Amino acid sequence: MRTDEQGLAYGGGWLDRAGALRTDPGWVADRLTERESVLLPFWQDRCLVSAERLPVRLPAVDAAGLLTAADETVFLGLDSGRAVFAADLSGRAEREAVELAGAAEAVDVRALVGGLGAADAAVQAYAKGLLHWHRGQRYCGSCGAATAARDGGHTRSCTGPGCGRLLFPRIEPAVIVLVEAPGEPGRCLLARHRGAPEGSWSTLAGFVEVGESLEDAVRRELAEEAGVTVAGMTYQGSQAWPFPAGLMVGFRATAASTEVRVDGEELADARWFTREELWARAAQGRPLGRIDSIDHHLLGSWLDGRG
Ligand SMILES: [Zn+2]
Repeated sequence: MRTDEQGLAYGGGWLDRAGALRTDPGWVADRLTERESVLLPFWQDRCLVSAERLPVRLPAVDAAGLLTAADETVFLGLDSGRAVFAADLSGRAEREAVELAGAAEAVDVRALVGGLGAADAAVQAYAKGLLHWHRGQRYCGSCGAATAARDGGHTRSCTGPGCGRLLFPRIEPAVIVLVEAPGEPGRCLLARHRGAPEGSWSTLAGFVEVGESLEDAVRRELAEEAGVTVAGMTYQGSQAWPFPAGLMVGFRATAASTEVRVDGEELADARWFTREELWARAAQGRPLGRIDSIDHHLLGSWLDGRG
């Protein structure tokens, strides 16, 4: 899988999101009538793909039936001036959605790793996250009235009398941390999560809670899950993670000591690994995290002595 300049999948999307233009409903509607405009169909968080497992891209002007059948159609952005939309067929049976799109099957974008460039994966992940948000925001949390999409699908507003509440797409930030032991030799902390297969080790991660900075979340997660006290940390990069609308924020931290005490809840085990141990595992064909994940990136840059 090709990746963005940081070496991370789902980054480097090429679309101009045209934030100032998409607020004009007439402008958005006109884009749907242009011959070069493209429509990406989805069904329940899954991309509709061809027999070659490439995402279906339909000319918008030839997709009247699909647009009528869609629960929601959102404007994603401009690709060199050409409008790109995504349509959600989640309200249809899977087979009907596949037929409407002229697709072969519906698959998760993360299952397309290897066949998609990073920018294409980024656009698919973006569409998946935005359509997922629409499905969960059909009613106002204040007054219970129906909400309606606006701004090309980047906002919803309440239709209830006297309410007018605006809803904005939600992302779910999480921190992911490669922890180094103090001193020599260089070692990093990897954990085995409860329920994970034996021998499956990964960096530590957790959702950011309300009222926390990213750094607070790093310190809390490491203390809660592994009993590790952080002496310092540096930002390493971030990744839009399509599960369905996450934002993984990567750090490298240094522990104050080598003491580890797993919580037994989220983690089954955690221990320090040298670079030689991890190289040996990789040589045995044991992958260092999902190839499309920031976990893989954090481990790879540490092994290479970067960051
Ligand atoms: Zn309302």
